[in-house]
Amino acid sequence: MQMENFDQLKNLLSQPKRIVLIPHRNPDGDAIGSTLAMLHYLSKLGHECEIVAPNDFPKFLKWMDGAKKINIGEYNPAKSRILIEKAELIFILDFNSIARIDEVGDWLQRSSAPKVMIDHHQEPEEFDFMYSDVTIPATCQMIYNFIEKMGDLDLIDKTIAECIYTGIMTDTGNFRFRNTSSATHRVVAELLDRGIEIDKINNNVFDTQSPNRLKLLGLALDSMETFPEHRASCMFLSREQQLEFSSQKGDTEGFVNYGLGINDFVFSVIFIEDQQHDYIKISFRSKGNFDVNTFARKHFNGGGHINAAGGRSELSKEETLAKFRALLNDYQEELKAVEI
Ligand code: 5GP
Ligand code: MN
Repeated sequence: MQMENFDQLKNLLSQPKRIVLIPHRNPDGDAIGSTLAMLHYLSKLGHECEIVAPNDFPKFLKWMDGAKKINIGEYNPAKSRILIEKAELIFILDFNSIARIDEVGDWLQRSSAPKVMIDHHQEPEEFDFMYSDVTIPATCQMIYNFIEKMGDLDLIDKTIAECIYTGIMTDTGNFRFRNTSSATHRVVAELLDRGIEIDKINNNVFDTQSPNRLKLLGLALDSMETFPEHRASCMFLSREQQLEFSSQKGDTEGFVNYGLGINDFVFSVIFIEDQQHDYIKISFRSKGNFDVNTFARKHFNGGGHINAAGGRSELSKEETLAKFRALLNDYQEELKAVEI
């Protein structure tokens, strides 16, 4: 684990502190897993910890120990702001850019507390303490490395192990993505030795869907447009369709992956009209060396990783889709050349 001023941080952590942990907006399994794992670990060290998430997170993550006590900035701004104001140390987990947490970012910038970033996304902003590694598939794996560097592996109990496992499992697509390494599996082996029940975790995360979610998936698949000469596909879900099936936060998670299941296709995109804001949220997935992080960053005000990224469009549905189709032509040669 590489952190320039690690000893200084370790020293800060040697006295009890009020600590706030923050995941990114629209927290996923890795964001919630890493903040909860750190919350449990730091509490064991005697710190007073709270998590402030910018907005709500999916039901399939709420079974995790401590999840119900997470403060949601969007629902409870006054309390969340005060927690950040009073924090003596702030952890920024699974993201690296203040812009990704909206209003919470403004509160964060006003705080003079030292900030610790642990994250695996590209192009991090500057923080007081930084552990950044884009080769690691999940922030949760970095949390394990951090606890190891602190000399506290014996403090990882079943609860912490469950949180770490959930983040690794979800961010590696169940250990399928290329960046899943032997180190990932070694960490998981250690977690298994702490007694985690992987069948239970898988069931809680993947097999608790509502019938409506599957019906919404049906609509998304039905909307799919394929571009065989670009080895790409896209889907679209309107606000009305989501309303019709009372779509909850996280219900559309994973839909985008279906586009990668098409023979020889390497690029899949889903456009989802945001239910609260006037923009279209976009998810990008790719195979091989087609870099959707750069694609999202350049054209859709987003970012992420080489094979999984997100962004948004303020244009109308028609304009957004037209922009995407035109871009596909620009990338045709690059898409054709991808080896899988
Ligand atoms: P998802 O498509 O599941 O929302 O996100 C895929 C990946 O891209 C995740 O690692 C997520 O953190 C990142 N990501 C999603 N949306 C954005 C965005 O608007 N900006 C940036 N920088 N990253 C994003
Ligand atoms: Mn992550």
